Amino acid sequence: MSAAEWVPEGGNVDTLRRAATECRGCELWEPATQVVFSAGNPAAPIMLVGEQPGDSEDRRGLPFVGPAGQLLQRALAEAGIGVADVYVTNAVKHFRFTPQGSRRIHATPQTTHLLACRPWLEAELRVVDPQLVVCLGASAAKSLLGPTFRLTAERGEVRERDTPVGVRRVLATLHPSAVLRTQGPERDEAFAGLVTDLRTAAAAVEKT
Ligand code: SF4
Repeated sequence: MSAAEWVPEGGNVDTLRRAATECRGCELWEPATQVVFSAGNPAAPIMLVGEQPGDSEDRRGLPFVGPAGQLLQRALAEAGIGVADVYVTNAVKHFRFTPQGSRRIHATPQTTHLLACRPWLEAELRVVDPQLVVCLGASAAKSLLGPTFRLTAERGEVRERDTPVGVRRVLATLHPSAVLRTQGPERDEAFAGLVTDLRTAAAAVEKT
């Protein structure tokens, strides 16, 4: 499984976005409503990479527009990162879910999906060429940095790392959904941790 044959050579983010609507690089396209490619400034200094679109994103065709996206917007604002400072995308571009009655329950993408979809992420990295990549959660970090990366041990640090498109400055932090899943007073702590990591990201780039 691989998206490689659908990824055009050259072009800009809009070229990629259009081409991705045709992608059949893995089976996730079929039950999903549509591909969810990216949003934000293609010339942004920071590229945020999430895991995959959720239910709201799948319906609207835009990344981070559901509850996790709203939390992310708050965290970005608290960290002093503006809308023009970020390009937002996901490691996997179609929603993976398990149907449960009328509901669609998020299902974590498997390594095969991360690998199949990675040619899109690689193309985005080449075109956007951000100063810093921020991986939101373990799936994004594993897609870019390999299966041995340990988020809990290495989160919040800006480091030069080997990626499929060469050495890049990367910071990994929590996915906003992980903050939402945290119950009780620990949720505030988890949110504060996300903001702290995003402040580190903001300090590591020249903003627009
Ligand atoms: S998830 Fe990625 S590789 Fe799979 S069909 Fe969608 S765009 Fe293609």
